[in-house]
Amino acid sequence: MFDTRELGRRPGAQRKLQRSVPAPAGLGIDVLGVSEGSDIELALRLESVMEGVLASGTARVLLTGECVRCLEPLEQQLDVDFQELYAFPESEIEEDEASRLEGDLLDLEPVVRDAVVLALPYQPVCSDDCPGLCPQCGARLADDPDHQHEAAIDPRWAALATVVPDDQNDTDEVAGSPRRPEVKE
Ligand SMILES: [Zn+2]
Ligand SMILES: [Zn+2]
Repeated sequence: MFDTRELGRRPGAQRKLQRSVPAPAGLGIDVLGVSEGSDIELALRLESVMEGVLASGTARVLLTGECVRCLEPLEQQLDVDFQELYAFPESEIEEDEASRLEGDLLDLEPVVRDAVVLALPYQPVCSDDCPGLCPQCGARLADDPDHQHEAAIDPRWAALATVVPDDQNDTDEVAGSPRRPEVKE
């Protein structure tokens, strides 16, 4: 909640604020979010306009979660911009076109919440080229790039080795594919 009284109601009046507020609960998605109570750094500009108060600014949050590929915990700073018109209680602006001032107070939480959730990466990764986990033993491949299993051919690869030539034969026979065995001159 921010008090807009000091701003005055003369259109054009402006006020800039820096504020640190504790994050509300449930800000985020399953794999990534803002820890409840962690600091949200707000850089806020309030501007008095005809219909009410225009609030715009940036919220900086610290996201915690895990990489969807390797499940390693991750932390990520996120800056989101927001802008919202808070209409005077007596304003005739439609409900869905603007938020409302509550007396002289404006409630920034829903606006910041929407901005953060919209900006969350859908599939957070610890790094863009995270190779994930070994499908055989679950080891984290980024920790061990040369990781391999030499003892036996993975049964899935063995299966592929027999499937692929069959597929090609089918195509040649059934569809009369123009693909011919390559003859090198
Ligand atoms: Zn990862
Ligand atoms: Zn492995």
